[in-house]
Amino acid sequence: MSKSKFIFVTGGVSSSLGKGIISASLAKLLQSRGFSITIQKFDPYINIDPGTLNPYEHGECYVTDDGAETDLDLGHYERFLNVQTSQANNVTTGKIYQTVIDKERKGEFLGKTVQVIPHITNEIKRRIKLLGEDNSYDFIITEIGGTVGDIESLPYIESVRQLIWELGKLNTLLIHLTLIPYLSAAKELKTKPTQHSVKTLMESGLNADILVCRTEHEISNEIKRKLALFCNVDVESVIQSIDASTIYEVPLLMKKEKLDEVVLKKLNLKDYNHANLDSWSDFVNNLKFPNYEVKIGLIGKYVELQDSYKSILESLIHAGSENLTKVDIVSIHSEYINDKQIDNEISKLDGILVAPGFGERGIEGKIKAIKCARQKNIPFFGICLGMQMAVIEYSRNVLGLVNANSTEMDEETPHPVISLMEDQKEIINKGGTMRLGSWECEIKDKSKVYEIYNTKTIFERHRHRWELNNKYIDQLNVKGLKSSGINPKTGLVEIVELPSNDWFIGVQFHPEYKSTVESPHPLFVSFVKACINYRKSN
Ligand code: GLN
Repeated sequence: MSKSKFIFVTGGVSSSLGKGIISASLAKLLQSRGFSITIQKFDPYINIDPGTLNPYEHGECYVTDDGAETDLDLGHYERFLNVQTSQANNVTTGKIYQTVIDKERKGEFLGKTVQVIPHITNEIKRRIKLLGEDNSYDFIITEIGGTVGDIESLPYIESVRQLIWELGKLNTLLIHLTLIPYLSAAKELKTKPTQHSVKTLMESGLNADILVCRTEHEISNEIKRKLALFCNVDVESVIQSIDASTIYEVPLLMKKEKLDEVVLKKLNLKDYNHANLDSWSDFVNNLKFPNYEVKIGLIGKYVELQDSYKSILESLIHAGSENLTKVDIVSIHSEYINDKQIDNEISKLDGILVAPGFGERGIEGKIKAIKCARQKNIPFFGICLGMQMAVIEYSRNVLGLVNANSTEMDEETPHPVISLMEDQKEIINKGGTMRLGSWECEIKDKSKVYEIYNTKTIFERHRHRWELNNKYIDQLNVKGLKSSGINPKTGLVEIVELPSNDWFIGVQFHPEYKSTVESPHPLFVSFVKACINYRKSN
């Protein structure tokens, strides 16, 4: 049997309460006491992974080193813990059913009727226990997506119930995250929705061990006692999670509320170190009391939804703290950029970041913004599609290749400066078939990126289908847009930079997936620094 302790996190009353942040914060606290820990997320939707989901549906799609396209909560786990997640850390109902149906087709159920219970629940339990198999973790936190009472969560709730029964109370723990709404007319915090959601859990045979209560106002001891009494938990197990000014404050708040201590006590664990969050507190202090401020434009087509560019926003926060700087993000919708906006707004920014993306919508706006950055020497950072658009802008406006484009946007373009590799041309299925996960890149000496990374070989995560067309590399290099990072195996260009500008870099990969609190990504740190310098000199 696995030595790992399993902590389950469910949510009640409302979605979007931040189960991912609470899970990551608890994990951080336990990690700071010397425990090894991982977090996994179970998503009750039927997509195999979020790779085929529009960002408007589910926010950003996060990518791991081993090429899994995952829920954005895995990004929080990595950013908080500074440890990597993998394919096994994000499971969807789609994956569960796919495995069970594949087994059925192979005849592995030996003539039995295949049913939700036990076959689907067995597969869920197998996946939950998978990360504990080699005993490398003291704790495995399993976050169940959705809200209790949802039809699609039922098999997960039942699986958790069975696992708690199988593994025993001393090896498992259930944390229920809930909302205590404040009614301003009555000037009162209300516990009833939480009572109901705990009751819903009980109907499925589950007792919450700990309640974490999201709230906008302090929860009094009296309310804590009331919640404890009606929800069948100890008073000390009612943990307040009050709104914080930044998600990075949550581990500190949870420490104050003793969430980790209650967890350790309930699991009867004794010999552990003190939680030391000193460097984490320094990071938060830098965030809260910055010395400088810069305004960076984030140019993308999904800017209406904050979560679409989650990892980029977080990477800029990490880089801001590292530079003692508040990074003000100006979200700019690439679809509506016109010359007036370039003159009045975009040309006045301290830095321009052009975001990743798919499809034609909004690309001409991105190209306009890049032209402005290039001509005015405003620090420019292009990520994935942002790099591809920088190549197109340069090809059109400096190389004079009229109508240069990516074949993603215009299959008939006379100058396909961005095009598909042969192996991508035959691919029909959209899911999981892009260039995904970690790839090696060799950096050229004397380049700006060499100065930034201070090493020749890097590994960065990818998620794209199109590539810079090697036929145009020489022309681009001769005219000034240098390829400064190359994939040693395929010869593909992974980084372009413009040495004639102070900071103009485009990367085919996604550095934002690798920035963490403990090790902010060097490209973001350097970009923010360049924005500070630009602001000072203008
Ligand atoms: N649409 C582009 C491609 O597939 C860029 C993808 C991205 O920005 N992640 O190559």
